[in-house]
Amino acid sequence: MSELAQIGVTGLAVMGRNLARNFARNGYRVALHNRTYARTESLIAEHGSEGDFVASESLEDFVASLERPRRIVIMVQAGPGTDAVIDQLVPLLEPDDIVIDAGNSHFPDTIRREKALAEHDLHFVGMGVSGGEEGALNGPSIMPGGSPKSYESLGPMLEKISAHVDGVPCCTYVGSDGAGHFVKMVHNGIEYADMQLIAEAYDLLRIGLGASAGELAEIFKEWNSGDLESFLIEITAEVLGHVDAETGKPFVDIILDRAEQKGTGRWTVQNALDLGVPITGIAEATFERSLSASTPQREAARQKLEGKAATWEVTDRDEFINDVRQALYASKVVAYSQGFDQIAAASKEYGWDIDRGAMARIWRGGCIIRARFLNRITEAYERDPELPLLLADDYFADAVNSGVESWRRIVAGAATNGVSVPAFSSSLSYYDGIRAERLPAALVQAQRDFFGAHTYRRVDKEGTFHTEWSRDRSETQQ
Ligand code: NAP
Repeated sequence: MSELAQIGVTGLAVMGRNLARNFARNGYRVALHNRTYARTESLIAEHGSEGDFVASESLEDFVASLERPRRIVIMVQAGPGTDAVIDQLVPLLEPDDIVIDAGNSHFPDTIRREKALAEHDLHFVGMGVSGGEEGALNGPSIMPGGSPKSYESLGPMLEKISAHVDGVPCCTYVGSDGAGHFVKMVHNGIEYADMQLIAEAYDLLRIGLGASAGELAEIFKEWNSGDLESFLIEITAEVLGHVDAETGKPFVDIILDRAEQKGTGRWTVQNALDLGVPITGIAEATFERSLSASTPQREAARQKLEGKAATWEVTDRDEFINDVRQALYASKVVAYSQGFDQIAAASKEYGWDIDRGAMARIWRGGCIIRARFLNRITEAYERDPELPLLLADDYFADAVNSGVESWRRIVAGAATNGVSVPAFSSSLSYYDGIRAERLPAALVQAQRDFFGAHTYRRVDKEGTFHTEWSRDRSETQQ
């Protein structure tokens, strides 16, 4: 029995291969399988000495090589590939076995699969894994859903292979069925916003200061030693400092300005629309990728829309850099605040009971949005687990309020000078909207009642009302 593997991984492309190596390096005996056996062979040939692997060519042998209850990680192409593997696996499994989907699956698929496998007395764990291939190998941030019972068996292994920050694993049980994949999706949405905000800061500095990529790299390097310290700021400095070997030009200048996406940002925005949660920072970031890829539209616009040339005469260099930094930080707080609102709304809608502070804690290491800042978010939810708005936590409110003049100068300056900053400006609008004493939504309600008899509520008395707009404009209580 001792030769049986403790965990199995099927799907040994870059992510699965590295995750399997990570389990093995942490002392686990790992069963290996891949549809095309050559991948399994190459893993054994190149890394077989790193740990204890049990390779199988057939899925039957793979399943038979695992101790019970079996723990099987599927790391294949999300979508039909995942369903195909599950369909082949299920007849080979026995009650209480645990099937873990570690790919980037859409959470409604995870909910569906969990239900289907529960009918076979199998546990299905939708597991978000962040950190790319490097994280998979050296310690990712792991967001497992599924049943609490499956976490009892799986949790210790996952916590061991995850990234650790201050000795704390970047892995915790998220919630039932699709909760893990949901939180991974929002993580990716926040990642979109974070990247877009950094890109806007770069563009502002580039245009405002007329600075070279190398000079900009130094600014980002410096920012990485303060509140903004994060993996994304760090790699931004690296990218800006990199020179293209072929042309000798700054690397960033030889890249086509067309951003692509794989879909998690889009899913995040679609879900936010369903839940009615304003995640304007993530939405702007997602739409901006689409705008950048709207080639014929951009070409037509360049021909006809003059506006202002993107020039900006900055008189005080240091003040400008500080303003951009403050605007970036404030906009980032808004994007995270909105993402955590979405998690709270989904948790309620789907009955997940997600601990938002714990999510910030497991994002501190291993994943793409890892940042010093996340400690502050965990602290905020520790102070008040029911916090209605992250932005209104004392620490974040102070941080944003103290930077708001800088933020306004930057957004106003960008508008005056014809520089597009969709995420900066929509975040500032959100800040002004969410704190407003009174919103023009009152007029929208009146319009709705006028053309569609949709009714309205009054500020001065309880009840629902309608005005007879096309008759005598008398008001009736509904
Ligand atoms: P991938 O390119 O998405 O998928 C390739 C793997 O899927 C191969 O092992 C392939 O087997 C297998 N596969 C595809 N269709 C299959 C089917 N119908 N039946 C059986 N196997 C099938 O691999 P990846 O880049 O390593 O990504 C794996 C998963 O991780 C994906 O869901 C991806 O979205 C996610 N991912 C996450 C991150 C992250 O940062 N968390 C980064 C990258 C990817 P063959 O070798 O036989 O073709």
